[in-house]
Amino acid sequence: MHELAITEGILNAVLPAARSAGASRILEIRLKIGVLSGVIPACIEEYLAIAARGTLAEGARLHVETVPIRLHCNACGSGSQPEGRKAFCPVCGSRDIRITAGREYCIDSIEVE
Ligand SMILES: [Zn+2]
Repeated sequence: MHELAITEGILNAVLPAARSAGASRILEIRLKIGVLSGVIPACIEEYLAIAARGTLAEGARLHVETVPIRLHCNACGSGSQPEGRKAFCPVCGSRDIRITAGREYCIDSIEVE
């Protein structure tokens, strides 16, 4: 994954939001990162410390909430949260499943002052 690009994307989203809220600085940035997204929170944190220098986000804490995998079974219609990376439905055992959560990452909220 391209954590640097993701970090810049985060800053491009949160800086205008903080400015339009009249904030003097951003205290915390909360992210939701799916376990399948391939995004490594530690890398984001590292890049953020560099990319945020001289901006409202300088020194902001990063809070990451991990989003677990959710599956939807096309055979029995049940939703489930697999343990590990099992690629079948825990209810009926079908492999006709799709992933409904865990691939995405997004900004949940920011805290400003
Ligand atoms: Zn099923």
